[in-house]
Amino acid sequence: MDIHKHAAKEKIQGDPPINVYKLKSALNIVINTHTANEIKANWNSDSITNKRYRRFTRSRRAKTGTQLYNSLTRKQGATLAQLRTEHCRLNQYLHRFKIIDDPNCECGHRIETVEYFLLHCRTYGKERKELREKIGWRKMRMPDLLGNPKIIKDTLEYVEKTGRLKFIT
Ligand SMILES: [Zn+2]
Repeated sequence: MDIHKHAAKEKIQGDPPINVYKLKSALNIVINTHTANEIKANWNSDSITNKRYRRFTRSRRAKTGTQLYNSLTRKQGATLAQLRTEHCRLNQYLHRFKIIDDPNCECGHRIETVEYFLLHCRTYGKERKELREKIGWRKMRMPDLLGNPKIIKDTLEYVEKTGRLKFIT
């Protein structure tokens, strides 16, 4: 959604004394490091205690990192890793890194978390409807969207269509 994207951009650029480009590249580095670790990690391993890594992987259908990522392009894998770890350019995360003041979604209804972006924000109603029609409403839940190998590519297609994560490439 273009309006959404532009609004977010304006907001970032509107913060006066901050060097936006510096922040952007710093953020990119942080995100890339985290997503690289995520891709390497075997999520089902007991050695991983970080809740963020495990949050969406409790379902039996969630596969290990290798199995999931082998079928994806590098870019798709990076996007999936961002969504799973919540290290992505959504407002909740940008707010955590003090890049923007307001963690709320541009629509103003709720904090823009990964879950809110994927399942709730009305800005992407059209894209979400297409996704739901493709995978069925029973699969419209986080463990399937980010952990079910049969569903993940459809989730990534939704993300791509919204254009919301294009900031990071
Ligand atoms: Zn929204």
